[in-house]
Amino acid sequence: MPLVAKGGHYCDVFLLSPDPSIGVPAPPPRLLLPGEVSRFGEQPLSEWRCFLCGRHLSKTTATREHVFPKWLQRRHNMGESGVVLLNDSRMKYRQLTVPCCLACNGGALSALERRVRDGFTAGADAVAELDPYDVFLWLAKLSYGLLYRELLLPNHRSAPRVGTIVGREHLETYRIQHALLQGTFRRVLPHAFPATITLFKTQVHEKPGLNFDYRDNYFGPFVALRSNDVGIVAILQDWGLSRGMGWPQFDRAEAAQPLTTMQFNEVVASGMYYATLLNRPVGVRHWEEGGATHLHPHLPDPPVARTELFEPFDMAEYARLLAGVLHLQPERVLRDDMVLTTLTTPNGTPVFTPFRTRLSSVAAAKAAAPEADQGRVEGGAE
Ligand SMILES: [Zn+2]
Repeated sequence: MPLVAKGGHYCDVFLLSPDPSIGVPAPPPRLLLPGEVSRFGEQPLSEWRCFLCGRHLSKTTATREHVFPKWLQRRHNMGESGVVLLNDSRMKYRQLTVPCCLACNGGALSALERRVRDGFTAGADAVAELDPYDVFLWLAKLSYGLLYRELLLPNHRSAPRVGTIVGREHLETYRIQHALLQGTFRRVLPHAFPATITLFKTQVHEKPGLNFDYRDNYFGPFVALRSNDVGIVAILQDWGLSRGMGWPQFDRAEAAQPLTTMQFNEVVASGMYYATLLNRPVGVRHWEEGGATHLHPHLPDPPVARTELFEPFDMAEYARLLAGVLHLQPERVLRDDMVLTTLTTPNGTPVFTPFRTRLSSVAAAKAAAPEADQGRVEGGAE
């Protein structure tokens, strides 16, 4: 089981072609969020600024906010295990902190943590009942906090002045997320729900350490997290455009719950891949009114067919990403025109199937491709 070989704790990031100048590749322009949020631009980013509100920190107001909260670390005995950072170095969860002011850390963030912790403690059904905006803010804080930490860490420990793991210009592509995060401590009114968040029930191992996974994606605000019986796949800034897209892996996963670790990771890979297919970055207009920051996303108008918002599904690209997430060799997930799935049978026996998504229905029709689920071949790859 390659997925649990590292103890079930890792943050896996999909990297294509590293740019040696900053240690990580420049993001592709189609995923940039064009909206400008002035507060972010004015905010200096340093160890002496609160990562959330930007307030200058003094020795009396400076605290450290754990990116992965302590309750989560205790729950999965995570203290000594760690996250793989974008430069392939590893950092222990307990060391993974960001500078935060006393007001944010002790006030808004701890209240948010309590609500989310109580949900996770009670289980998947309780998490489903949480305020979706709380879940969104909590996930957004995790992914933004990780990037912020990497902004402050030298890319090479032996050459601390050469550059940090993440450049400021990359963090600035997350300015909408940062603006939304400010909703933790002041009034921020998004005019639509900013994300597509899908919950799955997952199977629980006897060892607590095997019941946690975290993944995000360098190329856009995507987060997946598994904690005990709760699996979350979140496309953080699609403003709901991915909702109800009928992605086959998601449909099958819903029927296959509770998911094994491998099944959940397959859903994660597919969600991560579909997120990269969204071909229209959503611009966001913002203004101050009535003591609140309004964030108004420019959703497609006039409405176009939602399938047109996504690039066609490319089997080979998807297979490459799936192989990375499942820690398998690419040739083990792609066979001729079929890709491995663990979501088809109730016991999770992997099979090969020709995925045809509704997204790619036009391309599929042109190619006179077979319908989904036809020509299934028993694979037994695991
Ligand atoms: Zn603050």
